[in-house]
Amino acid sequence: MCKIKIIVLRYGHRPSRDKRVSTHLALVARAFGAHEAWFDTKDESLERRIAQVNEAFGGSFAVKTGVDLMSAIKEAKKEGFCVVHLTMYGIPLPQLIEEIRGKSKLLVLVGGPKVPRYFYEVADYNVSITNQPHSEVAALAVFLDWLYEGDEFNFKFEGGRIEIEPCVRGKKIRVLR
Ligand code: SAM
Repeated sequence: MCKIKIIVLRYGHRPSRDKRVSTHLALVARAFGAHEAWFDTKDESLERRIAQVNEAFGGSFAVKTGVDLMSAIKEAKKEGFCVVHLTMYGIPLPQLIEEIRGKSKLLVLVGGPKVPRYFYEVADYNVSITNQPHSEVAALAVFLDWLYEGDEFNFKFEGGRIEIEPCVRGKKIRVLR
């Protein structure tokens, strides 16, 4: 994995409505090389689902829920995080990616419901992944893929119980412990 510390922060998690999409966001963050994902609303079952994935597939990806987003953003900025807000209204990713790759810590903000104006103002970069509306999951995947330049295919997740052995057809799983 690259040396940039990456935290993804998702605004407006609604446990009853967003179960699948928030899980997918956390799974994409994990698989594509972010280190943590934070959600505003407390949701222990989301934390548990991701902990189970870590236990099976390895790595130390962390999910925090019940986070006060505004204070978390302020604190992260004080600690030197560069704030990247993914929004269809922002500047296209290809124009910014080189500059963003030069940072050591990134806090990546994504919405779900409409985000507060504060996000656009606090962001060091408002970044669009095309200027068409789509999804925070897709936006995050493309952002991290560009950031890592495809290196996510080489990531190793240590300490898991199982590992997938890529195969042409069917499913092969190595049981490690
Ligand atoms: N109209 C909404 C808004 O206010 O941005 C779109 C919400 S969209 C369902 C949820 C989130 O997906 C957005 O807050 C943003 O983080 C992300 N997103 C959607 N389209 C995007 C795009 N083209 N580029 C970057 N991020 C995008």
